[in-house]
Amino acid sequence: MTPRNQEESHPEFWINDAQSAIEARLRYIKATGSARNVVMFLGDGMSIPTLAAARTLLGQRNNKTGEEAHLSFEMFHTVGLAKTYCVDSQIPDSACTATAYLCGVKANRGTIGVTAAIPRRDCLASLEKSSHLKSIATWALEDGRDAGIVTTTRVTHASPSGAYAHIANRDWESDSDVIDDEYDPEICPDIAYQLVNSYPGNNFKVILGGGRREFLPNNVVDEEGKFGKRRDDRNLIEEWKMDKIARNSSYQYVWNRDQLKSVSNNLPDYILGLFESSHLQYHMEANEKTEPSLAELTEVAIRALSKNKKGFFLFVEGGRIDHAHHENFVELALDETIELSKAVQRATELLSEEDSLLVVTSDHAHVMAFNGYTHRGGDILGPSDSIGDDNIPYMTLSYTNGPGHRPHDSVNRVDVTGDENYRQLQWRSHAEVPLDSETHGGDDVAVFARGPQSEMFSGLFEQNQLPHLMAYAGCFGPGRHACSSGDE
Ligand SMILES: [Zn+2]
Repeated sequence: MTPRNQEESHPEFWINDAQSAIEARLRYIKATGSARNVVMFLGDGMSIPTLAAARTLLGQRNNKTGEEAHLSFEMFHTVGLAKTYCVDSQIPDSACTATAYLCGVKANRGTIGVTAAIPRRDCLASLEKSSHLKSIATWALEDGRDAGIVTTTRVTHASPSGAYAHIANRDWESDSDVIDDEYDPEICPDIAYQLVNSYPGNNFKVILGGGRREFLPNNVVDEEGKFGKRRDDRNLIEEWKMDKIARNSSYQYVWNRDQLKSVSNNLPDYILGLFESSHLQYHMEANEKTEPSLAELTEVAIRALSKNKKGFFLFVEGGRIDHAHHENFVELALDETIELSKAVQRATELLSEEDSLLVVTSDHAHVMAFNGYTHRGGDILGPSDSIGDDNIPYMTLSYTNGPGHRPHDSVNRVDVTGDENYRQLQWRSHAEVPLDSETHGGDDVAVFARGPQSEMFSGLFEQNQLPHLMAYAGCFGPGRHACSSGDE
């Protein structure tokens, strides 16, 4: 095994790299203003081919050829590329990438909010406080701003937990998961516990997503009849409420779309919304009357956080693009991308370009290929115009691996266009290598930016530079600030 650079275990390595990259940009980029509000949108697994295919689907849904269409954020003036590898992995997961784009430091796969000195699952090593990294949400809170998280996954899932957790294993979402790995949750508290009972999660004004089961005891049933997972008998939803009462603050816990609507008409100081036992349903499979959309969640979060005149940091995740790709459910992956685009669109309507920085990116790529030689306007979800040398069709959007693999018969590939459930939502596009779950890709991801200092997000850079760039634009957190550079 090639030895890696030991320096990468020290957070200073990544912080210094990011800060000198900011200095280097200042020599040739003329950017102005500073951001009171920073909103980071994350399409989990939203690779560049996913963007191209999703915009084509969006156009085709509007009866156009499609390729010329654009997602909302594709109109932002600045585009950059981020390198997604982690300290121990060429192709990353959503935990080490969350640590990079929220805490500003690259780390090991599977770990969240701790440096690369901490190996995955090493509970005891992770107790070392000097290995704990502050996120950009903490930087915002320390500056007197507010912070919040919105996601379509469990709020304890890898991406959002990068904003508040310090943990050696992303899978330790409830105490049961810690116990299953033969550790003591009293020593290494689970992610849901940290969100409710530790700083900075306990200071978040807005927490919206799924994952009620991580908060409830395993003998307690939630509002929709599903049991909790916790073995410590704690009801963390009740503990969250008690904490807000102790602060003399107004608060509201909500679990369905009607309640979310009523809370948006009378915004309390703190909002906790948990809309499913696990992840939110895929948008195309959810009942739009009862389930909130990502755009609706984003709007409530922005309106609630806007009460703080000093500003805020908000993290919004379209988390199920990734899940659909892992299943080779290509239409669902594209639709979830379009849902993220709608959420960004809503934010552009609610927040001014003068004082709010919006950044849209992804944590890592996937292995969906956009391939073949189809004519202009060809059905993006259909087979390619060209045909295999074996005289069997192949899909314009297919995968190099995943559960969509079909064993070949003695000589031939399977013609998937003849499948009984062909083109249904849970029909899997075809994959070359059989795997239970399709893998991530190692390619770079796109970064789109709008608002003050957005020009600073151009070029090809390490993913961990993102929070440093956002904090630079917002004039909070450690490192150099746009406001002090004289061009404010
Ligand atoms: Zn994934």
